[in-house]
Amino acid sequence: MDELLEEILAECKPFTSQGALASYIPELAKADPNSLGIYLVSSDGRINRAGDYHKPFTIQSIVKPILLLQALMDNGVDYVRSRVGVEATGKPFDAINYTEQALLSDHINPMVNMGAIAICTMISGKSYEEKFDRLLELTRLLAENNEVCLDEDVYLSEKRSGSKNRALAYLLKTYGIIQDDVEEVLDCYFRACSIRVDCADLARIGFTLASHGKSLSTGERIFPAAYASYVNAILMTCGMYDGSGDFAVKVGVPAKSGVGGGIMAVVPTRMGIGIFSPALDEKGNSVAGIRALEILSKKLYLSIF
Ligand code: GLN
Repeated sequence: MDELLEEILAECKPFTSQGALASYIPELAKADPNSLGIYLVSSDGRINRAGDYHKPFTIQSIVKPILLLQALMDNGVDYVRSRVGVEATGKPFDAINYTEQALLSDHINPMVNMGAIAICTMISGKSYEEKFDRLLELTRLLAENNEVCLDEDVYLSEKRSGSKNRALAYLLKTYGIIQDDVEEVLDCYFRACSIRVDCADLARIGFTLASHGKSLSTGERIFPAAYASYVNAILMTCGMYDGSGDFAVKVGVPAKSGVGGGIMAVVPTRMGIGIFSPALDEKGNSVAGIRALEILSKKLYLSIF
């Protein structure tokens, strides 16, 4: 299997030069565009990996399913569903789409920025610092890695350059979808996106969703199976933004991308996969990462369809 992964990475390497690094968050433009790594965790306990699987990068939007999980664990499905919708927007992750019509919770989902910013307000905690700390703890628990921490430079870079996210958050406030202080909510969101991980962390987090809430090492339940079903369904339809349909056809598993270049893929009951390659397509998804998942899915019959 490790050989197969090596072969796939060799085949995908040329695709790293077809994408572009995210530069709207200046710190992300410092990544090495040639990086490419993959890590697989299977339900029988096997681990397979190749390439730059140990290179750190920021989780970016791959934190969105973790934010959603935390909100579900704190509030249950009905409340979360009443505050943030589940329909694919078919639009870029930071689309504003402002019209004179009121913005309703059903116009957003937890995998686009507006939805994730709204989800931050649903995490339990007396302050936004406490909310973030609880999210970081959950991330460490799912990744089975206590060293997962904040990348301070990316966080500050994102906070400094985050005007579009500010605009999105103020729209949420204008339409009553959030009530709290916008800057505090955004600070939690920016920190959440700036959590530093590697492919192994993503694979282990993905594995907990693939195993419907059970820990990889102990088999103990971390969260209810119903929450995994909720998150996985939304990942399938919205996880790759306006590229989700194409990804469903080509790869066929729930997945989440981030502009740091990571992709977390969930193969229900079978596998968690972490991929890293920071050169992105115009939708903000890793070009070589998608290509590698496409080949892997064909070879291992991963598609759930
Ligand atoms: N932090 C990024 C942003 O808010 C996350 C976007 C992404 O990874 N697609 O723009």
